[in-house]
Amino acid sequence: MGRMNVTAEIVSKETAPYLSAPALAAMVRKYDPSVSTKKLERAYRLCMESHGKQMRHSGDPYYAHPIAVAQIAAQLRMDTDSICTALLHDVLEDTDTTEDDMRSEFGDVVTDLVKGVTKLGQLELSSTELSPEDKQAENFQKFVLAMSKDIRVLLVKLCDRLHNMRTLQYHPKASSRERISRETMEIYAPLARKIGVDRLCSELEDLSFKFLNPSAYESINKRLSAWRESQDAAISQLSIMLRDVLGKNKVNARIYGREKRPFAIWRKLQRQGIAFEDVADIYAFRIIVDDVSDCYEVLGLLHREWRCVPARFRDFISVPKPNGYQSLHTTILGPDNQRVEVQIRTQAMDDIAERGVAAHWSYKNKSYSYDESKAGDIDPLHRIRPLVEMMGHGGEADEFMELAKLEMYADQVFTFTPKNKLIALPQGATPLDFAYAVHTKVGDTCIGAIINGRERPLRTQLQNGDVVKIIRGGTPEPTPGWESMVVTGKARSALRRLTRTGESQEFRSIGYMLVDHAFAREDKEFSETILRDTLKRLNFDTVDDLYIALGRGKLSVGEFMDAVFPGRKHNQDLNKFENRDLIDDNTAKFYVKGEGLREGVGLHLGECCYPIPGDRIVGIHTKEKGIVIHTIDCDLLAELENEPDSWLDLAWRRGADNTASIGQITATIEHVPGALAAIATIIGEAGGNLTNIHTLKRSPSFFDMVMDIEVTDAKHLSQIVAAMRASAYVVTVRRARANTSEGSI
Ligand code: MN
Repeated sequence: MGRMNVTAEIVSKETAPYLSAPALAAMVRKYDPSVSTKKLERAYRLCMESHGKQMRHSGDPYYAHPIAVAQIAAQLRMDTDSICTALLHDVLEDTDTTEDDMRSEFGDVVTDLVKGVTKLGQLELSSTELSPEDKQAENFQKFVLAMSKDIRVLLVKLCDRLHNMRTLQYHPKASSRERISRETMEIYAPLARKIGVDRLCSELEDLSFKFLNPSAYESINKRLSAWRESQDAAISQLSIMLRDVLGKNKVNARIYGREKRPFAIWRKLQRQGIAFEDVADIYAFRIIVDDVSDCYEVLGLLHREWRCVPARFRDFISVPKPNGYQSLHTTILGPDNQRVEVQIRTQAMDDIAERGVAAHWSYKNKSYSYDESKAGDIDPLHRIRPLVEMMGHGGEADEFMELAKLEMYADQVFTFTPKNKLIALPQGATPLDFAYAVHTKVGDTCIGAIINGRERPLRTQLQNGDVVKIIRGGTPEPTPGWESMVVTGKARSALRRLTRTGESQEFRSIGYMLVDHAFAREDKEFSETILRDTLKRLNFDTVDDLYIALGRGKLSVGEFMDAVFPGRKHNQDLNKFENRDLIDDNTAKFYVKGEGLREGVGLHLGECCYPIPGDRIVGIHTKEKGIVIHTIDCDLLAELENEPDSWLDLAWRRGADNTASIGQITATIEHVPGALAAIATIIGEAGGNLTNIHTLKRSPSFFDMVMDIEVTDAKHLSQIVAAMRASAYVVTVRRARANTSEGSI
């Protein structure tokens, strides 16, 4: 016996001229005796009438295409509604026949199926590069599944695509041939595999392969025919031996062979980096038996007769593939030690292996319908979502079984750019998320959105299939409120960064103001030339960076002035003054008096409470720092209660009141553009000088900051605090110490 029959294409090439209506009906009647010939013929007629004189690129009348698609669907043994859908699938889009016409003549099921196929046809899925990294192809697959709803939509679409691929050589545009082939290879063929329709999948792959990589296709075919020639005898011999073994043991079986398809071989060569000769399963025998126990019996017989390759044994009966495929695979060492794969399964399994989901329709109780019992756990007709979900999980069989039980897949929306690039987003996403998903620059300059041709608010939640055009403006002006409008991390962090840029401008002007005040206070001429010399010392690149650091409080004004004027007099550093009761020379700011102040002992203002004239104060003697002055209500004092010896009664000296002092306040300010500048203005107008600023914490909504303000006395500071309280931007403001009561100021 010669070479086994190689699994043929479903139809042998473009059948010319085309199937007649009675021939089509006869085809269907073979597997569905209940077929309504009339309905089929009406669909056939409407198809011909609607497409009329339209032509295809091949020169055939257009209706030859839907008829061919119907023929492929019939070969998959699909139900009458599906065959009608195949006949009518291009009618709504390409002809004058309306949806209402169709609905009144064919009812809701066929009309909705046709609409589903039409919708899929309107997508140009691979207009952009599909790289595995961004999962575009996988997202497209999910999208197509989600759009299909009824699995028959996808099945008819795949038949349609198969016929278009078979006639693709007539398409005049090379770029379109390439696009369609790529789309087929990356989206439709994998989908066909996922719903188990191997027949469609392998032919779709091979046809795309031929167009996408003609030279590789050519060379694989050459190698294949050479291989056939060399192996023909061995295969025949093994075929006879197999039949003998099964015959001797009285196993009722059908044996046929299948040759691996060119693209499948090519993929294996690429993925596994092996040579053509090393592809172990170029040829495989299939043994089809009556029931499952026969499968295992045959397996035992083969393993007794020949040595098997243990590493290549697979039991897909006990653990089916995610798409429902079941079979035993074993590789045996034949007469000359050549390795041959044998696949053992029942007729029903073989049917599912070839037709996948389509095999779930059957003739039973005088009607042809979807048989749920056949589907078992895998029921793509009614539960397409688990299938979609499975794809995101590599599709391990047992994992799939778990996933199949879950209700899900409402967590994503699939949207499109005007150029049909698919953007998958989480449910609840808005045009801003979309804009950032397209590109950061698009998001940064987004000022509006047009959804499906209409301008919509930026907070609109996107729906499946929305086409979104982003309106871009010159300067980005996001407000922190935008953050609540987005759900993707990318958009959120980008918006945060953007508002920070806006903030930087505010910090810059505050920093500038601080520098200006500092120079004025010390009676120095301000010039940026001086600043430039200082930059290096302070490790900044630009004057702006310096201002921003000062504005943010990352650099204190004191440090800054030290760097500008090395060796300048530290007029706020009490260490410098040896006179304790009179801290004064022409530049001094603080005067205190009290018992126990001695020559040579340093005086400091407490950094916990920043006392200023007007406050009731106490001095604490410390070993490290000399005398530290605290306000009487400073929290720190509580800890020192057991050391009364270290307490000194101090008071401000008369005459100190009109001298400027540094007061410190903490404030919580709303995190919106303009807030900081407004606060600085309030302080300025109240006669205070902001000399330092320090941000403690910044949340999306608020800043917590500490500000040093030069004031004349405590009363002055309390006036500033009151003015700040009046501002809408200020949430809380108080002196920078715990338990401050207004009365003590
Ligand atoms: Mn079509």
